[in-house]
Order: sequence, then C-alpha cells, then structure tokens
Amino acid sequence: MRKRKNVSCAACRLQRKNCSQECILAPNFSPDDPEKFTIVQQVYGTSHIVKLLQGLEAKQREDAVKSLVCEASARMKEPSVAHELQKQIAELESQLEAKQEEFMKMIILYSSSTLDLLMFNMYMAMLKQKIPFMSSLILCCCGSQ
Ligand SMILES: [Zn+2]
Repeated sequence: MRKRKNVSCAACRLQRKNCSQECILAPNFSPDDPEKFTIVQQVYGTSHIVKLLQGLEAKQREDAVKSLVCEASARMKEPSVAHELQKQIAELESQLEAKQEEFMKMIILYSSSTLDLLMFNMYMAMLKQKIPFMSSLILCCCGSQ
C-alpha cells in the first residue's frame, strides 16, 4: 500500500486545513509552489476556485488552473499598467488644454478686434471645466462680429 505523504497542498496549507485524499485542489496546487495558489486565491477566492473545478471533469482541471493562474497574474500586474496609462492621459489632457488655449489666442489675434473678450474668458472658464463647446463657441464668436 502506497502511503500518501502527510503534506498538505498549497491551498490547504495557506488555509491551515488538513489536506485530504479527496482534496480537489491538491493535484494542481503542489506545496512546492505556494505562490501559484496565493495569486489565484487573491484574485478569485478559494470557494470560487473550488466551485469552478467541481464543475469540470478531472482532465479539464489542469488547463483551467493554468488559465486561472495566467489571468490572475495578469490582473495583479494590471494596476501598475492602469496607473501608467492614467498618468499619460493626464499629461496629454494638459497638453491638449495648453494647445486649445494657444489656438484660442491665435483666433483672437487673427480675427476682428471686435471679438468679445468676455466671450473668450467664458470659453476659457468652460475649458477648465472640460466642457467641449469649442466648435459651437467658435461659431458663436465669429457670428457675433
Ligand atoms: Zn488540499
């Protein structure tokens, strides 16, 4: 009789549970690689993983776990990517704002001197609130001459 070594799988070890012969997580979460379970557990939660594996045939479980690990590690990396993109968007927005301001100044310079300065100031105020009325306002300004 082959006696199973009294070693809990990574999942049971993390939850401080006794790992049984029937443990559904044991075949895919070896105690040698605890990181693998930690990642998927943080993203999906143990009960969700167990439920998912219970709904699959034994031969499908390995692939399912592989894709869970892959997805979970991608999700863990995402926050830094999202943060980087947000930084870029903020940077581009401020560049756009500066260009729009420049553009409006050009319009004032090259258009008739009767252009209402009040209108320009109103536009600038709206720009700061990020209300995209640019084209309608240009029409309005040009029409008011
Ligand atoms: Zn286990």
